Amino acid sequence: MMDVGRHPRIKLLTMSEVVGVKGYVGNFQARILKKARYVDEKECTACGECTRVCPVVWPDEFDLGLSSRRAIFSPFPQAVPSAYLININECLGHNPVVCAKCVEACDKGCINFHMSDEEIVEEVGSIIVATGLEVYDPTELDEYGYTRFENVLTSLEFERLVNAGGPTNGELIRPTDRKRPRSIGFYLPPKYKAWVSGLHS
Ligand code: SF4
Ligand code: SF4
Repeated sequence: MMDVGRHPRIKLLTMSEVVGVKGYVGNFQARILKKARYVDEKECTACGECTRVCPVVWPDEFDLGLSSRRAIFSPFPQAVPSAYLININECLGHNPVVCAKCVEACDKGCINFHMSDEEIVEEVGSIIVATGLEVYDPTELDEYGYTRFENVLTSLEFERLVNAGGPTNGELIRPTDRKRPRSIGFYLPPKYKAWVSGLHS
């Protein structure tokens, strides 16, 4: 992602969505909705001073709710561009400005509540459709107790807990009491069991 952000021939549009395409191969016009981030991404140094004063606390999506973030935040470590953004639906200071603590804390003056979503048109020769994927909903497998026991985790939640950059700096703890577990059970769906045994045969 960093390389893409720095590449002289790639224009990276984050917080953006393609809303329409017309044209033909070699000559497409893509209509793109660029959402307002309310922080000037070219000026923001990602110093974090704004986050320290923001009073609004929300579960951090990147840590799957295992940690919290503020209404002004960086979506994840090493995000590109390296700039903060405001979730305007969570912010207290929008229309009328009733908070603005982040504005006072930002020496760079790069927070701007007058930004708005804008639609732009890009002329491109080809389009690669890369849809990504959705995370499996673990509540569909309730026989494993995900909705009943807080210490039952998905593999992604487990990854955040053992990640050195995660909410516990890599220390594996039980979410309920923050103590180290004495033992851990891993559930492997039957269709993968055969595959794993094949690796060891
Ligand atoms: S918005 Fe301002 S205070 Fe917040 S991280 Fe960017 S430069 Fe720092
Ligand atoms: S204005 Fe919004 S983003 Fe800024 S500190 Fe207040 S609540 Fe947080």
